[in-house]
Amino acid sequence: MREDINEKCAVVGIFGHEEASKLAYFSLHALQHRGQEAAGISSSDGKKLHTIKKRGLVMRVFDEAKLKTLSGSSAIGHTRYSTAGDDSILDAQPVFARYDLGEMAIVHNGNLTNADEVRNRLIKRGAIFQTFMDTENLIHLIAKSEQDKLIDRIIDAVRKIEGAFSLVFLSRSKMFAMRDRFGFRPLSLGKLPNGGYIVASETCAFDLVGATFIRDVKPGELLIFEKDKEPISMQVLESVTPKHCIFEYVYFARPDSNVFGQSVYQTRKDMGKELSRIAPIEADMVIPVPDGGVPSAIGYSQESGIPYEMGIMRNHYIGRTFIEPTQEMRDLKVKMKLSPMTDIIKGKRVIVVDDSIVRGTTSRRIIRMLKEAGAAEVHMRVSSPPTTDPCYYGVDTPDKENLIASRMSNQEICDYIEADSLAYLDEEALLRSVKSSANEDKYCTACFTGKYIV
Ligand code: AMP
Repeated sequence: MREDINEKCAVVGIFGHEEASKLAYFSLHALQHRGQEAAGISSSDGKKLHTIKKRGLVMRVFDEAKLKTLSGSSAIGHTRYSTAGDDSILDAQPVFARYDLGEMAIVHNGNLTNADEVRNRLIKRGAIFQTFMDTENLIHLIAKSEQDKLIDRIIDAVRKIEGAFSLVFLSRSKMFAMRDRFGFRPLSLGKLPNGGYIVASETCAFDLVGATFIRDVKPGELLIFEKDKEPISMQVLESVTPKHCIFEYVYFARPDSNVFGQSVYQTRKDMGKELSRIAPIEADMVIPVPDGGVPSAIGYSQESGIPYEMGIMRNHYIGRTFIEPTQEMRDLKVKMKLSPMTDIIKGKRVIVVDDSIVRGTTSRRIIRMLKEAGAAEVHMRVSSPPTTDPCYYGVDTPDKENLIASRMSNQEICDYIEADSLAYLDEEALLRSVKSSANEDKYCTACFTGKYIV
């Protein structure tokens, strides 16, 4: 069974607003960086749920006419991250179902670690699945629960699943938001300017629709939204030491978001400062790999006093390079996407800052490109530790054997990417940047350490 679906995505929920689906739509635009493969919205008009979902960017999936059909004062939305080779529209969300209590729709960000077990048990009991998404497990668990009320069925269902999940459920009259007990993936609660509430993966969605941040949904907490009421909070999963995904700070979240209680931009800048302290080098300029490396390159430059320059131009009309299935296509896409600012870098010793090296393809290509453009020296600085282990909690990383740092030493990677020097941020410095001491231990660092929690 496929396990690699349903990763790195964005969710949003709007409750108690006349134009709920429009607000969900705008929020999905702000969250587009979390997934470009497919987008969808379900709304409720109180009697019926309406769903539109399709492959493609938010802008392509919806238009004015479509949004009109998504009527009602509550709506949930999703953007799906691409998983190599999978392009089924069936795997787009929200997942919608009719069941004995009526209708429901679910959106999910994260990855369930016991999805196969749960699914096999359900299949043995006669369930039929239409998609590879672990989110469909939830629908079945809810539909088959013996409880009378939806809320009790949801509680029943989330107690049977394990792993990373930030979920939003929509029924005809209510909305529910839920985070796994470790709080792997972010989920925040806000208040809409003209009444009503919003929950979203990242606070940059709040800024776009003019919502005010209230707080993060707590790990293990279920929030229940009902008409004309304040959201009701229930701690339905035992609270444990949280394990927030540190990669949200490294790469995934948008710099203008506040994630797990702190600014992504500031955190990334601090990573760059730490990097400059632990891996200094003499050079003429610091340049970022756009866009991921920008905040940490600023931090590196400010701390080292080496001027920050724009040495690489990014073409914004091309999607992420990471998502192409074959190696050859990935190489080609890097070339299309990034080009050197020859006049700036010619004859210069440059420090190139990126947020992470995953396969090594991007760095190798960029360094070659900079050298071809005449850079005298290229020093690679990475604002996170070597990515050595795959993520099972919702970040789309390749298998271990495709992670360059899992099979090569620092020097070998440096040679492979053809850099004059290479240095990474270490784990302690990373944790210092996210303001967590080692014993506080509230982040999941498995992609850098192989220390898995569930
Ligand atoms: P590569 O080393 O060629 O696999 O690519 C590393 C680049 O991909 C870096 O510039 C990162 O900004 C970016 N990146 C890191 N992790 C991911 C991810 N999970 N999905 C997409 N891009 C990523």
